[in-house]
Amino acid sequence: MAVKNDDNALKVLFVTTELAPFSKVGGLGDVAGSLPKALSQAGVDVRVVTPAWPGVLEKLEAAGVKHSTVKTKVYAAYDWRIHSAEVIKAEVNGVATYFLKAEDYTGDMYPQQLNFWTASPFAVFCMQALELKDAIGWTPDIYHCHDWTSAFLPCALAWHRHYRQTGGKSIMTLHNVAYQGVFEPYPFLDASGLEPWSFNSSTMEFYGQVNLLKGGIVAATAVSTVSPTYASEIQTYESTRELSGILYQQRGKLRGIINGLDTKFWDAAGDKTIPANFTIKDLKGKAACKKALLQRAGLDPNSDAPVIVCVSRLVEQKGFDMVFNAAGQIAETGAKLLILGSGQDWIENGLAQAAAAYPDSIKLFKGYDEPLSHLLYAGGDIFLMPSVFEPCGLSQMISMRYGTVPVVREVGGLRDTVFDVDRPEGGNGFTFLTCDVDGMMWALRRAVERYKDKEAWKKIMLEGMREDFTWDKSAGLYKEMYEDLMQ
Ligand code: ADP
Repeated sequence: MAVKNDDNALKVLFVTTELAPFSKVGGLGDVAGSLPKALSQAGVDVRVVTPAWPGVLEKLEAAGVKHSTVKTKVYAAYDWRIHSAEVIKAEVNGVATYFLKAEDYTGDMYPQQLNFWTASPFAVFCMQALELKDAIGWTPDIYHCHDWTSAFLPCALAWHRHYRQTGGKSIMTLHNVAYQGVFEPYPFLDASGLEPWSFNSSTMEFYGQVNLLKGGIVAATAVSTVSPTYASEIQTYESTRELSGILYQQRGKLRGIINGLDTKFWDAAGDKTIPANFTIKDLKGKAACKKALLQRAGLDPNSDAPVIVCVSRLVEQKGFDMVFNAAGQIAETGAKLLILGSGQDWIENGLAQAAAAYPDSIKLFKGYDEPLSHLLYAGGDIFLMPSVFEPCGLSQMISMRYGTVPVVREVGGLRDTVFDVDRPEGGNGFTFLTCDVDGMMWALRRAVERYKDKEAWKKIMLEGMREDFTWDKSAGLYKEMYEDLMQ
């Protein structure tokens, strides 16, 4: 059912290139799929625009979501021709959502190589998002953009020869500053319609290249990122290298708001994809999930060894080189390690070698598999997340919802959500600071040891299961940011 808003409600258009469950790659997809609903419930008149990447409309159809084509198309002038898109309107989670269907969105969602041609669809998308208001008869007060893929929108509002005259406020939310949308300026500057004077070191120029994220940060009316700790970290050279100076300079308009979860979707009590459900009051189902998981991994289903699980993109950021370098030490603890993920070859290979060397202890499920991820969250005992950096991280929160105790590096959003049980005030997981095998093993060994004490372990599990990971509080903080912007 659509969430009703009053006429005076702030109008916010979410401009996103990922949208769970239709086009999710990582955390951005999850956030775009759940925050708008929470904002709507908090009284914001929010709508969403996103490209209809290949397969998206089929998924919409398969999910039985009703949709219709808006009468008017949207048009954007780019590279000396008109780019048009059909607008498909659907109601997703009670939020009006517009899927833009065009030739521009028929390629890979995330190009391997970024250059003028592969970056162009993202610029076209932003301009079509700016044109949407006329097609749907609804003008946003604020454009809420996410990551480099929609960072061209604030740039256009500030520096495009046409759009800079149209007015409009924008927010740039940084889900991961490691991806910035950097490519050569020729012929982009001419093709994009940006004023020639707009390309300089205090705008989107970055060591002779275009840096869309930098442009978006400078041009946006306000900037937010997905945890308070990450908001501080990104202002340091250790974290964001050359971009840290700009983030430090722009810190007056930067805030950190922790992500929430779709707690209906990630819910041990109601999850239909897992073999048995469980709650804080009755944990029996979790044992059945563990059994099914061990069976799926080809291990003894009756084993009482602690099961360490990981669900992750296998990229440098996630620290899995520490995991395969510690394979022998992990096997020695007697725990089982089950990893689901895909990503860079060298990490997949390192983990595959570790699994081959310790077949009774380590299993790798290569690939992206949503249902299997639920089984890992539900059937695991320990969730390992040794990230080098982590803007917010959702997996540690999901794992806690399923009573799986997180072992994480104290960085970014992990630092804001996981607290070591051995602190005097207690906590909900195990943490370590140094980014090396010794640090990780120190925390992991403590977890494996503690697992033997069933009562102590249950207490930690329940602590995590009781945490409030709903969007309620954070949606309120976003609303506050919108209101501040309109002052
Ligand atoms: P990031 O956005 O950096 O990838 P997050 O922890 O914020 O990390 O979000 C990751 C999301 O993607 C979680 O919902 C996680 O379950 C999901 N995910 C990651 N890898 C896989 C995979 N191989 N299969 C299924 N889901 C995955």
